[in-house]
Amino acid sequence: MTVAYQLEEAGTRLSPTTIERRPLGPRDVRLNLKFCGICHSDLVAASDKLGGGMFPMVPGHEMVGTVSEMGAEVQGVSIGDTVGVGCIADSCRSCHSCDTGDEHYCETGFTLSFNSKDREGRVNYGGYASDYVVDYDYLVPIPTGADLARMAPLLCGGITVYTPLKRFNVGPGTTLCVLGMGGLGHLAIQFASAMGARVIVASRSEAKRADATRLGAEVALDPDSEDLQAWMGQVDLILDTISNPHDLNRWFSLLRRGGKLCLVGVPTEQLEIFPALIVFGDRSLEGSLIGGIADTREMVQFAHSHGLGAEIELIQPDEIETAWQRLHDGDVQYRFVIDLESLGSS
Ligand SMILES: [Zn+2]
Ligand SMILES: [Zn+2]
Repeated sequence: MTVAYQLEEAGTRLSPTTIERRPLGPRDVRLNLKFCGICHSDLVAASDKLGGGMFPMVPGHEMVGTVSEMGAEVQGVSIGDTVGVGCIADSCRSCHSCDTGDEHYCETGFTLSFNSKDREGRVNYGGYASDYVVDYDYLVPIPTGADLARMAPLLCGGITVYTPLKRFNVGPGTTLCVLGMGGLGHLAIQFASAMGARVIVASRSEAKRADATRLGAEVALDPDSEDLQAWMGQVDLILDTISNPHDLNRWFSLLRRGGKLCLVGVPTEQLEIFPALIVFGDRSLEGSLIGGIADTREMVQFAHSHGLGAEIELIQPDEIETAWQRLHDGDVQYRFVIDLESLGSS
């Protein structure tokens, strides 16, 4: 029996209940979940603002747990191993995207770990629960000795920022500017610093600017101050983690020739761009969605070997509603993680 926090309909409250996981297939593992991060996209799915919501819904896609049961064909993991599951629970495994490690762009659509149908057409319930069942190809090994609660948010938040940093070769000799100092931004600073890049951060909050420099940023600027002028034409990549409507145009002039502004936040309103800011300077606007399984595994190893992880507020399951409200209001430092121990194992 699986204990889970579920919404009956869009916008209703989460309440504890029991759900049925699918029967364990030959390639499946069951995880006793220990922690699950709370991601902004949980709130978006629960509100059904983008449509297509599958209710009743159990949110959660940043899971860490231990293997408690496994099918006969499972290889490479053992009972008791600590593993994670992020956004991707399955994909077709035969299209060009799957073949090249980009399961999140699977041409048949990938199966999300919640609010999605599996390949048999059954609705996937997520990780605000005591256990989870998934095909072993989509597991992310968690290194021995890792702080599991701090690792959980890496499985969506971490890979979301890691993928563009890798794709655009952020490292020694490059300068990154992070827009937004929240769940994604605070991870981007840590990863890019560990990769050897210079990191600058723009945030209106003095407290967050102090945190940004503590986490590895060389400079943290108030975007409304004159200090920004000194960085015009100096930046190779701007990672825009802001999910609210905002003005993109003021940022392009920070970029060097050929520099890129990459969106990882997803505002649901239109953003306007003044074309000359891109054309004069050979600049470009990019977008990036999470990342594939191989990159997620690499990212977790990278994080562990550099001693980095999410800064978290650990909560109990009956505090999720309050946490959601605070996340909605931007009041979290910097990621909520649910301690699932009290739900017990199946
Ligand atoms: Zn997420
Ligand atoms: Zn595919």
